[in-house]
Amino acid sequence: MPGFKVAIDGPAGSGKSTISKRIAEQLNLTHIDTGAMYRAITYIALQKHINLDDESSYVFMQDLKVRYEKNRIYVNDMDVTDQIRSDAVTRNVSKVSSFPYVRRFLVQIQQEAAQNIDVIMDGRDIGSVVLPDADLKIFLTANVKERAKRRQKEKEVLGIKQELDALENEILERDHKD
Ligand code: C5P
Repeated sequence: MPGFKVAIDGPAGSGKSTISKRIAEQLNLTHIDTGAMYRAITYIALQKHINLDDESSYVFMQDLKVRYEKNRIYVNDMDVTDQIRSDAVTRNVSKVSSFPYVRRFLVQIQQEAAQNIDVIMDGRDIGSVVLPDADLKIFLTANVKERAKRRQKEKEVLGIKQELDALENEILERDHKD
């Protein structure tokens, strides 16, 4: 796979996307946020009211084109960047991501997107599964309180106020599910 590849793995809220964006700008790499892709599938699954617990109901993905470009995520050319940050998506994304069928579909898209370009990709399986031969692999983490504070700030920007304790619990729960 020609091109310079950077993989950033780590848990939710550790700052993977923020750091990736900055590195991408400074080193002129394409940034791909793979978490946004899992969120996009979760958003569409919720819109379609499929049975989220049944792996076979995810065949709807075959009709979807998922693309991450310039910090925006598109499904069949529809920009869903804002929608994928909803609480409903955050609550369900770990479950959706747990299905091998969903993972195979997105890993293939991610590997194709990274082909022949200089790229920095973030997500929890990038160094191990998506880009196992990456030139640089970073595992980025932070303690739960810091991760919860980051989430709190992100939500404040969206006009949502949430207690730190509740966010800490949400993050611990997502760590466990992931
Ligand atoms: O990075 P972010 O927190 O937006 O990721 C949302 C969720 O997507 C994660 O909690 C995880 O369940 C899933 N995910 C994954 N594999 C990736 C990226 C994200 O399973 N490469």
